[in-house]
Amino acid sequence: MKESEFTQAEEQMIQREFEALLDDYAHTMHRQKVELITRAFHFANQAHHGVRRLSGEPYMMHPLAVARICVKEIGLGSTSICSALLHDVVEDTDYTVEDIENLFGEKIAMIVAGLTKISGGVFGEHASEQAENFRKLLLTISDDIRVVLIKIADRLHNMRTLGSQPKEKQYKIAGETQYIYAPLAHRLGLFPIKTELEDLSFKYEHPEMYAEIEAKLAANKNAQMATFETFSAPIRERLESMGYQFSITARIKSVYSIWKKMMTKQIPFEDVYDLLAVRIVFTPHDSMSEKDQCWMIYSAITEIYRPHPERIRDWISTPKANGYEALHVTVMGQSGEWVEVQIRTDRMHELAEHGLAAHWKYKTGEQDESELDKWLSEIKEILEHPEKDAMEFLDTFKLNLFAQEVFVFTPKGEIKTMPQGATALDFAFLLHSELGEHCIGAKVNHTLVPLSYELKGGDQVEILTSGSQHPQENWLDYVTTAKAQSCLRAYFRREERSYIKRGEKLFHDAIGMLEMPVNMDMAVQKMLNHYHLTQPIQLYLQIGKGAIRLNDTQQILFPKKSIWNMLNPFATVEKKPSAEVKDAPTVLEKEAAEKGKKKSHSIVLTDENLGKEYILADCCHPIPGDEVLGYLAEDGKMYIHKIDCEEAMLLKTSHGKRLYSATWNTHRVQSFVETIEIQGIDKFGVFIDVLKTITEQFHINMRAMNVAADDGIFKGQLEVYVYDKKELQDLFVSLRKIPEIKAVKRVMTVNS
Ligand code: MN
Repeated sequence: MKESEFTQAEEQMIQREFEALLDDYAHTMHRQKVELITRAFHFANQAHHGVRRLSGEPYMMHPLAVARICVKEIGLGSTSICSALLHDVVEDTDYTVEDIENLFGEKIAMIVAGLTKISGGVFGEHASEQAENFRKLLLTISDDIRVVLIKIADRLHNMRTLGSQPKEKQYKIAGETQYIYAPLAHRLGLFPIKTELEDLSFKYEHPEMYAEIEAKLAANKNAQMATFETFSAPIRERLESMGYQFSITARIKSVYSIWKKMMTKQIPFEDVYDLLAVRIVFTPHDSMSEKDQCWMIYSAITEIYRPHPERIRDWISTPKANGYEALHVTVMGQSGEWVEVQIRTDRMHELAEHGLAAHWKYKTGEQDESELDKWLSEIKEILEHPEKDAMEFLDTFKLNLFAQEVFVFTPKGEIKTMPQGATALDFAFLLHSELGEHCIGAKVNHTLVPLSYELKGGDQVEILTSGSQHPQENWLDYVTTAKAQSCLRAYFRREERSYIKRGEKLFHDAIGMLEMPVNMDMAVQKMLNHYHLTQPIQLYLQIGKGAIRLNDTQQILFPKKSIWNMLNPFATVEKKPSAEVKDAPTVLEKEAAEKGKKKSHSIVLTDENLGKEYILADCCHPIPGDEVLGYLAEDGKMYIHKIDCEEAMLLKTSHGKRLYSATWNTHRVQSFVETIEIQGIDKFGVFIDVLKTITEQFHINMRAMNVAADDGIFKGQLEVYVYDKKELQDLFVSLRKIPEIKAVKRVMTVNS
C-alpha cells in the first residue's frame, strides 16, 4: 500500500462507488438504514484516506466492492454492509475494535473483530499453523455466520483483482481459495460465487489451460446459442400457454468444471457433451404447491423432448444439504444431444443464488430446521469438542466440506442425508454414538452387510448392535464422516487411557509378587529393552491390552543364572525368548555370517521384525503358528512361506542353500488378515450367530464379508484379523458348534 493524496477524479470515483452501493441497497427488501451505512462509509473512508491498493486505485474501493458483493450477490443487510465497509479498518489503521464498538455498536464490532482475527489467511508456513488458522475461521462461523459470508465476499473481490499481485502471492491466494473458500461457498449454498471462485483460482493456477478452454468456449458460443434458441422455443410457447411468468436462460458450463470433466473422464474438450444447460425460473400460481407445478412443467417438457430415464434429480422432495432445491431433468434435443433442464421457482432460485441469507428469509420458525442448520450445529459440536491434534481436526472438517450427498432411509422410513461414500458404520454413528460403538453390521434392504458397506441412495438401513461389541482401530478405515471419526477417536483415547492404567497396575502387581526387592525403574527399562519399546506408557498399553503377558517377567528381569533363578527350582531356564528376540540377526548380518565361517540357517520371527526384515509371502500368507520356512531371495529380502506352499516346494528343490528354518516368537502385537469360508443352512438368524461368535466371543475384527445364499444353503467368505493360528483354530471350534454351520475352512489363496 502506497500513500499519496488522491486526485479529485479519484475522490469522485469513491463517491460514485458509494452511491452505487446505496443504489444496490435500495433495490433490496431490507429495512433502509441508509444513515448508519453512510456513517460507516465516511468513517472507513477517512481511516483509509490517502492509501492505495497495489493496483494504484484508492484503498476504499476495496471495502466498497466487498460491501456491494454482500448486498447484491449474497443478499445481506445493513449490519453486514457496515461491517464490510469497516472490515480492514482495525487491521490496517490505528483504530481499535473498541472504537468501532463505540461508534457502531457491539454487533458490528464483533463481526469486524472476527474478520480481523482471520485476516491473515488460512495458509501458513507450517501445516499446523494452517490448521490453527482454519480452526479460527470456523470458530467465527459459530460466533456469527455473517463473518464467514463477508470473508467470502472479501475473498471474491481479492480474486477479481488478483492480477495486480505478485506471482507468488497469486499462487498462495488462489490455492487457498480453491482449498477452503470455494468449498465453503458451496457448502453455504452460494453457487454463482463458488463457481466464480473456482474459475478464478483455476485461471491463476493454470493460466495456459484456462486460456485454451476459454478460447474454445468462445469459438463454440454461437453454435451453443443457436442450439439454445431452437431448443427453448417450443418450451417457451408451452409455458406461456400455461400462463406462467418465467425466464428461460442458457447456462454454459464454467471453464473450471469443463477442465475437471476433461481430467476425470480423460477426454478432450470436444468430447465434453454437456456444455449447455437450460434454466427455467418461474413464478408459481398460488392455487397449487410449488412442487406440483415443477412436475407439471417437467411433464410439459417431456411431451416435447424424450427424457433420459436415469437422469432426473428431484431436489424438491429432498433438498441438498446446503439448501438447494430444484428439479433437474435431462432430455434429448432436436439434433440428438442431451440437454439438462433445471426447473426452479423464484424462491428456489434465490436460495440457489444467495444460499444462507435467502434461507433465513424464508425460514418460518425455530422448528423449521434445514440440512444447512443441522450442518452449522454440527460444526459447533465439532468445535466444542476439539481434537487433540489440529491436523486431525482439519482433515475431519474438510471431509464435511466436500461431501456430496446420498439419501438413505431408517427402517421406519425416515430419510437421512449422508455424504457420498459413507458406510453403514457412519450411519450408525449418525443415529447415535452408542449405536456406532456397538455396531456389528447392518441390514441394507433386508440383506446383511458388513460395517464397511458403502451406502447407496435409497438404501434402507437397519443397524445391528451387540452389547459386547466395541470399536476397533481399523474402524477408522471404514468411516468417512466427521462425526464418526471424532466419536471413534474420542473412544480410542478413553480406551487407551484405561488400558495404560490397567497395564501399569498389572505390572506393579506382578513386580510386587516377585519375592525379592526390585528397582522399579530398572524393571521398566529391562522390559522396554526386551520388547523394543521406548516409553513406559507403550509398555503399560501393551500389557493393558493383553498383547504383552506378564508370565515371563521374572525371566526377563533376571535372565539365566541370577541368584533368584538358582534358588527357584521352577524357573524355566531353558526358555529364553528375550535372548532370541534381541539376538535374532538381521538379514545383512546373516549374509555376513554366511560368507564367514559359521552358517546359522535359522531365524526367529517376532512382531517387531515381521514385515520389516522378514516378509510374509503373498502366495500362502502364513500367520504365526503356521509351519514356515524362510527364503533369502535374490533381492536380499527374506520371504516367509508356509512349509507346504507350492512355491516353497519349488524353492526347496532348486534353491536349498537359500532356505532358512524359521520359528515364531510373537507376542500378539500384530494381527494378520485371514480369509475363512463358512457354509451352512440358510436359516434366519444364523449369520447373526456367526457374527456374534466372531465379534463377541472372540473380539475378532472383520475386514470384509461376502455372503451368498442359494437353495437354502449359504456360503460366506470373511476376512478376519487374527493374531495367530491358535486363535483361528479356537474360532473354528466355536463356529462349528453352531448347529446350522456345516463347514468352516481357511481359504489358502487370497483373491484380492
Ligand atoms: Mn479486505
